[in-house]
Parts: sequence; structure tokens; C-alpha cells
Amino acid sequence: ARLANQIAAGEVVERPASVVKELVENSIDAGATKIHIDIERGGHKLIRIRDNGKGIEKDELTLALSRHATSKLKSLDDLECISSLGFRGEALASISSVSRLTLSSKPQEQETAWQAFAEGRDMAVKIQPTAHPVGTTIEVKDLFFNTPARRKFLRTEKTEFSHIDELLKRIALSRFDISLTLTHNQKVVRQYRARESAHGVKRVAQVAGKEFEQCASFIESGSDGLKLNGWVMPVGSSNTTQYSYVNGRMMRDKLILHAIRQAFEEVVGELALPGFVIYVDIDPRQVDVNVHPAKHEVRFHQARLVHDFIVQAIKQVVLPADQ
Ligand code: ADP
Ligand code: MG
Repeated sequence: ARLANQIAAGEVVERPASVVKELVENSIDAGATKIHIDIERGGHKLIRIRDNGKGIEKDELTLALSRHATSKLKSLDDLECISSLGFRGEALASISSVSRLTLSSKPQEQETAWQAFAEGRDMAVKIQPTAHPVGTTIEVKDLFFNTPARRKFLRTEKTEFSHIDELLKRIALSRFDISLTLTHNQKVVRQYRARESAHGVKRVAQVAGKEFEQCASFIESGSDGLKLNGWVMPVGSSNTTQYSYVNGRMMRDKLILHAIRQAFEEVVGELALPGFVIYVDIDPRQVDVNVHPAKHEVRFHQARLVHDFIVQAIKQVVLPADQ
């Protein structure tokens, strides 16, 4: 079992930031409104995610650590209509096969909290009672301790931490209603408080910087089946604020990037990719999210239509260079 999981881990667990991504997405799927991310030594030593989500029942703990166990797909039909971030049931099993993982959890209605960890060559899951408030904590220690080849690919503490920091920015822009706290070596590095404002302007300023927040144009366009909103920054500024989301998932989708670039090219006549924070919301039946295991890409069923819609929406707010 361990080997199969380690092979799967190759797909989802590339570095500490990929572990953080999977775990924070699980917390979000569990309805958490507060998530703490504690990192030590760039994640080489420790990655700890604490949430106040719905928790995992004692009887489900073992299952949560096994491969292809997901509580999020009830039937094959669900695959057509996925709203949760995770659905492959691979992350926890994969991560626990390449680290020392403990899972502690307490659902509201359960009296005591329980802790699970996989042990030994056969990864038998043991459970024991523990103290824990409602919610879940997952601790991942010594990432890749048993896969030296992968461990060699880890960069410095600083580099790995900067990947985590960047990832958390992406997540922070996907959910303004969740508060996120990031610590590194026991010092608070980021504190994204939950915002009530629908547009999340303050969080955008916090993540992308004041200049972006002040100079970017706000976009809001579309109908029920297809919506676009967010901000685009005029060309000419060198900026690295490039975030796009499809139905709340962060994406680095080629079609979206291409559409943004084309809109700017048509109006401004330049090839530079502008800064943007863009949210595409589309009927989930019109999109396939299961394209890549790391889930950065989607397939739109009506690709041309979506592409042209994005181009038009952005062209409406972008001014020609000399105005
Ligand atoms: P997936 O997210 O694809 O379902 P994972 O391996 O990431 O698979 O997680 C397995 C299962 O463990 C989830 O389906 C969920 O039931 C449970 N789980 C994981 N993390 C949490 C959490 N933070 N809170 C509640 N349940 C969780
Ligand atoms: Mg998951």
C-alpha cells in the first residue's frame, strides 16, 4: 500500500507548498472559517494545518487516510457537477506515505477528539483519544524522510517558504470570507482576516499591494451561466499579480491567459501580460475540472465562447495606451 501511495504522491506532492495546498483545500471543503498554517523550516520539518471545520468522525479517520477514499463524491453523476475542491481521495494517503502524518479531529457532536496516524511498513492506521477543539489538525513532519530522491529536490528553507506564501496569496484571493494565519518558525508572517465586503477590496490590497488596488480597473460582466469579475491592471507596470479562478478554484489556465493577453493586445497593442485578479464563474456542467491531478487546468466545453466572452469583458474596461 505504501508504494502505491508513494507513486501517487509523485503526482500531488511535489514540495511543501503542494502539501499546504491539499490540506488547506480540505479545510475549506470542510467549511472552515478559520485556518492556521504553521510552518517550520520551510516545511521540511513541519507543516501543521488547524481548522474549525466540521471535523472527521472517529469511524472515518482510518478511511480518510486510505487511497481513493473521498467523502465528497456520492455518485458518478457528481463528477459532472463538482463543487468541492478535492474529490480524488488521494491527498491524505499520498502525503502520509512520504511523511510522518498525524490527523486529529473532533466533530461538533462527538464527545472526545481522536487522533490517527499511519505506522510501520504496511501503514496500518492506529487511533487514540486526544484533546482537540471542534475541527481538524493535520501535522506533517519530516516530509520525504523516506524518499531521499525527492528530498534532494527540496530547495532552501527560504525558497520553499516563499512558495507557500505565494500559494496562500492565491487561496486568500479565492475566499474573502475565511481568515488565514500563516506562521513560519513560530512567527506570524501573514494574517488575512475574514472580510465581509463582497468585493474584498481590502484583501486584494493586502495580497497584491496598494498600487494594484488603486490602479486596477474593476470588471463585472456576464449572465447567469457565465460571469466574469475582478480587476485588471493597465499595461506598462511590471507586476506579478496574476491570479485567475474558475468557480472558486485557482487556475493557471491557458485559455484564460490567452484571452486576457488578446484583449490587451487588441486595445493597447502590446504583448505584455497585464496584472489581473480574475474570477470566472460558469455553470459547472460546462466545465471539466478533472484534467490534471494538480487541478490547475480546466476544460471548457464551449471553449471558443468562453474565450471570446473574456476578451470582450476585458476590452470594455481597458483604455487605449494614449488616453
Ligand atoms: P479528497 O479531498 O479528494 O476527498 P483527501 O485525501 O484530501 O481526499 O481527503 C480524504 C477525506 O478526508 C476527505 O474526503 C474528507 O472526508 C476528509 N478530510 C480531510 N481533511 C479534512 C478536514 N480538514 N476536515 C474534515 N474532513 C477532512
Ligand atoms: Mg483533498
